[in-house]
Amino acid sequence: MICIPITATTQGAILADMTAAAKVADLVELRLDFARGYDLKALIESRPCPVIVTNRPVREGGKFEGPEAERLAVLQQAIALGAEYVDVELDSVETIRRGGRTQLIVSHHDFEKTPADLAEIHGHIVRSGADIAKVACMASDIRDTLRLFDLLRNTRHETIALCMGEAGAISRILGRKFRNFLTFASLRQGAESAPGQITADDLTSLYHYKQIGPDTAIYGVIANPVAHSMSPAILNAAFEAAGLDAVYLPMKVTGDVVAFVEAFKAIDVQGYSVTLPHKEAIIAAMDEVDGIVKATGALNTVVNRDGKLFGANTDVPGVMRALEEAIEFAEPQRAQRNGSVLAEKRVLLLGAGGAARALVYGLKERGAEVTIANRTHARAVKLADALGCAVIPLDRIAEVEADILINTTSVGMHQKIDATPAPRAALRPGMIVFDAVYNPPETRLLRDAQEVGCIPVSGIAWFVNQAALQFETWTHLPAPREVMDGALRKRLALNRQTRKPKRIN
Ligand code: NAP
Repeated sequence: MICIPITATTQGAILADMTAAAKVADLVELRLDFARGYDLKALIESRPCPVIVTNRPVREGGKFEGPEAERLAVLQQAIALGAEYVDVELDSVETIRRGGRTQLIVSHHDFEKTPADLAEIHGHIVRSGADIAKVACMASDIRDTLRLFDLLRNTRHETIALCMGEAGAISRILGRKFRNFLTFASLRQGAESAPGQITADDLTSLYHYKQIGPDTAIYGVIANPVAHSMSPAILNAAFEAAGLDAVYLPMKVTGDVVAFVEAFKAIDVQGYSVTLPHKEAIIAAMDEVDGIVKATGALNTVVNRDGKLFGANTDVPGVMRALEEAIEFAEPQRAQRNGSVLAEKRVLLLGAGGAARALVYGLKERGAEVTIANRTHARAVKLADALGCAVIPLDRIAEVEADILINTTSVGMHQKIDATPAPRAALRPGMIVFDAVYNPPETRLLRDAQEVGCIPVSGIAWFVNQAALQFETWTHLPAPREVMDGALRKRLALNRQTRKPKRIN
């Protein structure tokens, strides 16, 4: 079940939020400790769905600062008024008299840590006569969630177990697989009652929460930071479109990624996407890796093959496919030739970071001639020497005669969308211009390229291709690329607060 906490402060706002929440939630939690004034009888009488009545004291992370007797009297009144559930803290449960059909949620909160004696605390709660036991603890590391999942798996008592904070966010989604009684989700951003709560809209439309069950396969993206990641939007949409019982989660891994992978074997994760800063360090956790990982030292995909972890790189084939499709579109006759359509193409590549390395490796493999330019010239020289390319200073790129111009710098990314890494003088009609930047999907470079008569290719194509190859590696099914493309654009548009340039490509 999904429960939306109502954190509004006035009677009118509480009523309005309850009505809005009931459209997406199974029940609402009246957080009376947030309210400045209310008429509990009127609230309960006009409830649009079942309610939990909570009046949390400061000592348990709530906002109620008045006398304890007054706080408990409110809970007692809620029982008398027939609220479906009343939440009472473990240390206060003995003072509450049961009544009617109200069920008692007996809770314990720890806003500092996930305590070592979690099972013991849960045992106390169960023995206190709780109809539903609740433990909510702060996670300092994503591995803390595993202890909550263990608790849920090992109890037959109805239990709500949640890890708070960003590190614990997956517990709010994945708990359902382990029979969590309910999860809390906020009505909107800013209306959270505890840290790490996600919106009810994300829970249902992004993570398809209601479809998660005991057999749901687990996938996720390992990153730090992870909140900005577009991968959950695109891969959950793909699983949904393919009718698969699977969920894809954002996994914020702050420490040792190898230790994380080892620990998460406990819940049998079927596959990971891997991004910054873990693409290299995670290789040590693999039983086997593919040839591209061996050659580039960068891994972005993990597949669980009956307990053995196989590491792959879909970044390189993903971006090569985006370029090859653009060439085949521009020169259909070239597609008929043997070998890659990239062979002998003259490529001017801007940047010398991780994205550049993947691209240069793939381009050289396919026989392209690559010239690199980068803000820090020495990095361009190092990459060029390692992979057999030419180099040119960034301020002389307009001199280069190229068939393809590729931007792998972060110039033009969201927040600085009017910047471009290349002057118009470097663009020639008919040239393919590929921008690795995908947020925004249409950068200033691509708009300039279109105006000059080039063939613009958005970084969206790369992002979708690498994710589509991950989906195919994990599921052995064809990826629903159009669905994935649409999900990515929709999510980017949702997140973007700036102007929307016209669609290219
Ligand atoms: P990175 O390793 O940090 O490299 C960043 C590159 O951008 C470096 O060459 C850096 O030059 C250059 N740069 C940064 N700020 C600059 C500025 N103000 N002026 C000129 N050059 C500047 O990052 P990365 O992982 O390669 O990623 C680069 C871009 O590719 C990002 O926008 C990322 O989102 C995008 N990307 C997209 C996909 C996709 O699927 N579409 C995949 C991977 C990456 P210095 O060497 O001088 O610092």
